[in-house]
Order: sequence, then structure tokens, then C-alpha cells
Amino acid sequence: MAQSIRIAVLHFAHETVTFLKNDTTLSDFIYPGSPASGEALLKAYPKSYMGGFVKMAREFEGVELVGIESPLWPKTGTGSGWVTEEAFETFVGKMIAELKTQGPFDGVYLCVHGAMAVRGVMRPEAELARRVREVVGPSAIIAATFDLHGNEDDEFLKHADMGFAVKYFPHYDEYLQGERAARMLVRAIRGDYKPAHAVRKVPILTATVRMWTGASPWMDLSQRALTWEAREVDVYVNVFFGFPFADVPDVGITIQVLTNGDAKRADEIAKDIADLAWRKREALLSSTKIYFMAEGVALAKQAIAKGEAPVVLADHSDRSGSATFLLKEIIAQGLSHVLIATIADATTTAKLKAAGAKAGDAFDGEIGGLVDESAGEPVRIKGTILNAVEAYGQFWVGIGFGRGNVLLLSTYLVQIMDPFSLGFDIQSFKAFAIKSRVHFRKGFDDNGFAKTILLLEPDQPFLGTIYLDALPYRNVDLKQYYPYGNPVFPS
Ligand SMILES: [Zn+2]
Repeated sequence: MAQSIRIAVLHFAHETVTFLKNDTTLSDFIYPGSPASGEALLKAYPKSYMGGFVKMAREFEGVELVGIESPLWPKTGTGSGWVTEEAFETFVGKMIAELKTQGPFDGVYLCVHGAMAVRGVMRPEAELARRVREVVGPSAIIAATFDLHGNEDDEFLKHADMGFAVKYFPHYDEYLQGERAARMLVRAIRGDYKPAHAVRKVPILTATVRMWTGASPWMDLSQRALTWEAREVDVYVNVFFGFPFADVPDVGITIQVLTNGDAKRADEIAKDIADLAWRKREALLSSTKIYFMAEGVALAKQAIAKGEAPVVLADHSDRSGSATFLLKEIIAQGLSHVLIATIADATTTAKLKAAGAKAGDAFDGEIGGLVDESAGEPVRIKGTILNAVEAYGQFWVGIGFGRGNVLLLSTYLVQIMDPFSLGFDIQSFKAFAIKSRVHFRKGFDDNGFAKTILLLEPDQPFLGTIYLDALPYRNVDLKQYYPYGNPVFPS
């Protein structure tokens, strides 16, 4: 009979766009189901990190999981800025108090993202680990899972023992990394794995739209990490690409390597991957071409004429969901058979809902734009309502207009990742105009569906731009990063 093991489970995750004006507040984390504790927390996100962790941990005999009261993702999703100090201190304070009353624990699982940004707390995930360590003591094992967009440096692993980040973008392996964290936590608690680590920063900073791991050279970084894990027993490699839209001091690429007690070997492997990233720095920044709207839509028109449809037009920079720049350009250049999905317009959808809008009704009105300058101007659409439904917590209205075009209105920002999930006859469209950076590759590209893929942004560098030097950073000195300066590397 294996000795029994008690593991505390905590969740605190956000990917913070600090350039957004609306802070992520305490009340954004509080809604039916959040915060969650006990079994409810363990059942949250069953297909993601948490699900994998719980499933694997419970395959070991004698493991008890204790769900500590934790906030789930805020209801704003990724559409809100700095997490307030009040929100952070309130939840972390409660977690620490509960760890004290429910302890002692042999191990702790921290389900985090890595790109949370908190006012006044520069490295929130590391700070959480530091405070947890104070309570659980030096002999407990602390393990975490991360998104590869986490902004990390060596601080987290000063307080925690292990971290496991996803290797794919889109993030196909969240569940797998959760499983790994559970297995390694149990092994480390039983003394079968003695985590030693190395961390190396690579001074490269770029926009997330470029980081698709389905093609070189971003794929090469993931592949190199997988190769090291395959060829050496007990080696775990995290390649953090980083999240540039959080104005925090640990942005940029970070390599973390774990070995079973061999810090020197960990550093050799970290150096190997850091060197690979640096050698490929030019290619990392040029692999995904980004077009301005007029040029991109013109290329889509040419592609359709040459039979290279379906085409994806992805506006990667829209952070509100209401941006109309792409819609405007599609109308100006007279494209036909385009599905535009979506334009977020809370006012218009609420009005249509109140009026009992239904299929067959005529529509003539201004839609989208206005929420801030990055959303642009509203666009007038005259057409016919094809459907109007309440689903997934918002109201959706499909409007047919022009020659075979369909505009899908939503209440909130929507990232369409799969054409087959939309409920339209997808064969009738030659192009799909969506709001997504990389996640759309899941259903439009990795499966070979789209023949032409064009990524676009407006002429002005709004907050989702690839032109990072247009953003008002205060905590990041861009000159310390390629391509904005000539940083010293290797260090
Ligand atoms: Zn991510």
C-alpha cells in the first residue's frame, strides 16, 4: 500500500492585455461557478490542464486532491487589462489562509497561465508560488502548468519545483501537460524525481500572430524541445514564446529545462534551444506575412479569381471584436460570397433581440465600430436577416447582403476557429473574414481546408499590432530586444 499523499490544487489564470483601458477587477472573477473550490474546482475545464491533472493524479493510489477556493477565468476572458491589486490580494489571501487551515500538504498544483499582469505585482505567478511556499514549507513539492505565452524568467522556479508548458500553438496539449504535472508531482513527492532546473532568456520580442507552431521556424523550437524530451530520460523542456501585450519586465522568449537532479545538463539543453532561437531570429519574425487591409483584400480577390479558394482573411489585431476595417474593405473592393464572422455589436444585437428579429426580416442599419478607436467607424448594411438566435450566452444575427455575402453579428468578441461549427452551408462561401491570430489554424489550416490564408491589420497600429514599438510600454525597454535593438546574446 503506497503512503498517502495530499495535494492542494489552486487555479489563478489570465492573459492580460495591459494596454486595454478596462482593468480586470475583483467582480470580473466572481460569477456563478467562480470562485470554485473542492470538487467543483477539480471539475472545471475538464479538457484542459485541470482535467488532465485530476485524471492522472487519481490514477495513483492514495492521492488526495484538495481543491482550494480559486477564481476561474474572469468573465471578460482575454478582453480586459491590468488585474487590480485588490483582486489579486483578495484571492491569494484566501488561498493562503485555506492552505494553512487545510494543511499540511505534500504537494501543490498551481494551474496558471503565465501572462497575468497585476498592478503593483510584477511577477504574479512567482509571487503566488513564493507565498504558497511560505505556508507549505521547503519539503513540499510545488508544480505548475503554463501556457507557452507565459511571461516568465527564473523567478518562478526559485519558489516552485516544476513547471510544464504547452508546446503547440494552437494549444493542443493542455490536457497532456496537466497529466504530466500530476505524474511528476507524485514522483517528486515519493522521492523518485529530484527536480533540477535551468532557465535562459532569449531577447526576442514579437507579436503572437507570428507564433503558429504548424510551420518553421516556430515549429522547430517545439520540435527541438520534443526531441530533447524523447532522447533523454526525465528531461522536460518549456519554450515560452511570451506575450508581448503585457507590459511586464519578464516579456520575451524563455527556455526552462528540468532534469532529474542534474542542473548542469539542464543548462546545456537550455543553451542548445536558446541558441537555436537566436540563430533563427530573422526567420522567427518573417515567417508570417501581415498585410494591411486594402492589400490583403486585393490578394484575396486575386486568389478567388485564380481558383485558390476558400480564402481566410484573418484580422489578427482586433481586441474588441467590433472592428469594421476588414468589412469596410470587403465592401469597397466588391467581394462576393464572403462570410464575415463576426462583428461584435452589443447595441444592435440587443435591439434586434428586443424587436423579435426573425429570418426573412429586412435589415438596414449601422453596425460595429465605435467602442474605441481600434474598432473604427460603423458600417451601414442593407440586407435580409437569415437567422437570429440566442446561443452560448449571447445573441447572434446572420444578415445576408451583397452578392452571397453573410455578416454574422455577435454580442461579444468571437474568435471563429472552425468553419464547420457555424451552422451555415460553408460550400457557398469563397472567403471567410474572421477575427483570430492563430487559433483559427485549428479548423481552417491544420486540416488543409483553406487554400489561401491572409493575415491582416489596419493601417494604424492599434493595441493588437505587430508594430510593438508603437505601444506605450513603461516596464519594457524595447532596445533590449531583437528586432528593436541589438541585445547582447548569448549571455
Ligand atoms: Zn496562449
